[in-house]
Amino acid sequence: MNTEIIAVGSELLLGQIVNTNAQYISNNLSDLGINVYYHTVVGDNRNRFMEALKIASGRADLIITTGGLGPTMDDLTKETIADFLGLKLTLHEPSAQAIREFFKKRGRTLTENNLKQAMFPKEAVVLPNNYGTAPGAIIEKDNRVYIMLPGPPFELQPMFSNYVIPYLAERENQKIFSRVLRIYGIGESAVEETIKDLLINQTMPTIAPLASYGEVTLRLTVKCDREQDPLEFIKPVEDEIRRRLGDAVYGIDSESLEIVVAKLLEEKGLTLAVAESCSGGLIGDMLTDVPGISKNFLEGAITYSNEAKIKRLGVKPETIESHGAVSRETAREMAVGITETTGADIGLAVTGIAGPGGGTVQKPVGLVYIAIAMNGEADVDEFRFSGDRKRIKHSTAKQALDLLRRKLLNI
Ligand code: ATP
Ligand code: MG
Repeated sequence: MNTEIIAVGSELLLGQIVNTNAQYISNNLSDLGINVYYHTVVGDNRNRFMEALKIASGRADLIITTGGLGPTMDDLTKETIADFLGLKLTLHEPSAQAIREFFKKRGRTLTENNLKQAMFPKEAVVLPNNYGTAPGAIIEKDNRVYIMLPGPPFELQPMFSNYVIPYLAERENQKIFSRVLRIYGIGESAVEETIKDLLINQTMPTIAPLASYGEVTLRLTVKCDREQDPLEFIKPVEDEIRRRLGDAVYGIDSESLEIVVAKLLEEKGLTLAVAESCSGGLIGDMLTDVPGISKNFLEGAITYSNEAKIKRLGVKPETIESHGAVSRETAREMAVGITETTGADIGLAVTGIAGPGGGTVQKPVGLVYIAIAMNGEADVDEFRFSGDRKRIKHSTAKQALDLLRRKLLNI
């Protein structure tokens, strides 16, 4: 089936809300092996919606609309689709009953326009709304399927998974499965170069590279019969990519660097403390996004000023005086200092110049030192990141987590 999703709502066109419904539906349809070829957004305007329906029915056989099922004047999805298909709306008694009960339970009075939500063509299969008042509907006509879903995501999502997926799964006998390999420490072009032959010869799975924020991801996608195990196709290619890229492949799917670091800390039974200067607490923020990390993450100190580095971490004033706050030596003393003052097994420290000011020829904006201390000793690495202040902070935090990950892998 070829699908077009039509999101109805002027709020979307005005940029007041983001079309997350289309994203949600597309994502779920791909799991069913159903192609989505078009996303359309149209305002709450009858003529333009009619036009969008005309276009969609000429190029798709599954048309899913979201929004405009509510009780108000500007909610015109059903009325327009019924007109478009030449169908009449009549009161759907079970829906009317459900709406009456919904209001009674909440002690609110039902107004006449609320029953507008219970009007459907008699040809429609009505989808109950367990989280709001506007039911959805499926209409099959002229070899096309029209599915109408409510706008609010917390109403749409359960309706989609409880009623629409079972309905569509029955019609299709295929599925799509993707696995994302997450890579850090090798640039996009180097990754592509390393797996060039695999990219050229890709069939099953297909391989799609994507780069963002210093990370590269490879999405491996398989389309197969429902009874088949997609991992059978994914596994050999994944193994080959891992063999070539080694430790740079740090996780799959939604596994972030911080999740991988948290897992490794737990596995090795080690504790961590972090001293941050230019990253301003971002490393601590990322780590504390991982539930359950309190067992292994003891403390994060944002030691931004020279005094803080001296007082909180025990960095020697002479070190800062002779080498500067952004230096290999200061980073080393920060990492050792945070380890000693917290009793953590590992100390991670960063110091750098996030810009836009403060750079010199010897120490330009983007210069960052990252130190990892264990047993009183620290390894320090120097990096030069580019971009604006936010980007440099972000790159610093990710790079620090990646260094830590690699260190933990070798303990
Ligand atoms: P209601 O009964 O709440 O009026 P409805 O089906 O008529 O529901 P709309 O009035 O079009 O839906 O939208 C209601 C709300 O749902 C919007 O204010 C917005 O918060 C959310 N919403 C609508 N469309 C989308 C979309 N495409 N993606 C994400 N959220 C959406
Ligand atoms: Mg509405």
